[in-house]
Amino acid sequence: MPVSDEWFVPTELEFSSIHVRAKTEWVHLLLGDGSLTFGHGEITSTQLARDVSPVVARLANRLRGKRLSADTDVITLNGLTTEQLETDRILATAVSGLRCAVADALAQRAELPLVDYLRALHDHEGTAERDVQLYANINRSMLADDDGFVDRSPDSFAEMAQRAMEAGFTTAKCAPFDEARAPFKSSGLPREAENGLDRVRAAKAVIGPDRALLVDCHSRFDLDSALALAPELLEAGAGWYEEPVNTLDQTDVLRKIRDRAELPVAGAERGYGIALFTKLMEEDVLDVVMPDVKFCGGPVEAYLIGRELEARWERSVSMHCPSGPLSLLASAHATAAFDNKLPLEHAVYEVDWRHEVLEPFELIENGYFVLPDGYGLGGRVDPVAVAMRGRSWTE
Ligand SMILES: [Mg+2]
Repeated sequence: MPVSDEWFVPTELEFSSIHVRAKTEWVHLLLGDGSLTFGHGEITSTQLARDVSPVVARLANRLRGKRLSADTDVITLNGLTTEQLETDRILATAVSGLRCAVADALAQRAELPLVDYLRALHDHEGTAERDVQLYANINRSMLADDDGFVDRSPDSFAEMAQRAMEAGFTTAKCAPFDEARAPFKSSGLPREAENGLDRVRAAKAVIGPDRALLVDCHSRFDLDSALALAPELLEAGAGWYEEPVNTLDQTDVLRKIRDRAELPVAGAERGYGIALFTKLMEEDVLDVVMPDVKFCGGPVEAYLIGRELEARWERSVSMHCPSGPLSLLASAHATAAFDNKLPLEHAVYEVDWRHEVLEPFELIENGYFVLPDGYGLGGRVDPVAVAMRGRSWTE
């Protein structure tokens, strides 16, 4: 039977969250058929004011008791348009989480790991790698902990980068400009950026010339300051220039920055759907697009984006993944399925019990994510971890 003939009838919906540190909570949904099949999705939404779970519950009501045979049934049964999904990020997050859960369940019904299900669904020949190269994003380890303590000195950035290199990663990423914010009082390189450059130089000194340091600017600049910063970052050895301005709100400004900057420009972590990511590449806005499995439409959409864009622009897709282990698991399946050329993001050293959230434990070896053997995602959020560190609820 072709994998596209598999089906799944959801009848149950449950949510769970895990307290991570400070304001961070990892939030998950679980879609069940009342017997043995459960699909999972992560709907963590650190930048959103409103909780996503009521929106998930509303959309899931339209799926209840229906025979689903594709993750996109979430969209069609709710009558949603691409325009709605491109412009409403809470909706996009809810849809992405549900599409992930449905794909997880359908892959289980097909008795295939998600990576193989994705390829079988789209006649993709050959076998995908089981180990997915990661890069170590040290940002989240440099945010305040539950006691409000944080050391953001250049030495502290260097120490975290060193720790990642010792663990086997060959690429790290930092966000050194979080204290800066456009508009700036003077033209040229803003003074607020100097401290960030010191952090980049300190981290790059321990990473060395043969390994890469990516720099995320969290959209804190404008055209003038971003153009002044680009040559400084190049000189400091940065490997890419991520979102000096917001890709989706300031597309034309970012195109000008990319046109003049001599290092690759990356972004679009909040984008939804293959049409949008393709347009950003066709219109020369970015060198690297960063679909996030929690916002972009889920693992099937991420796979399609990666497959299509890497075929047209080699080394143009690196999935954004700063959240919990469930979204990293889904991202690793999608990334392996499209035969990635660039590493996948992993937020390291946020909490030391992170691997225990999943059953089986999240496995990262020498800078690589090791995909589990089970069907579907091959992992689930452990109810014991939820009982110890969070809560579960139904809407
Ligand atoms: Mg980013």
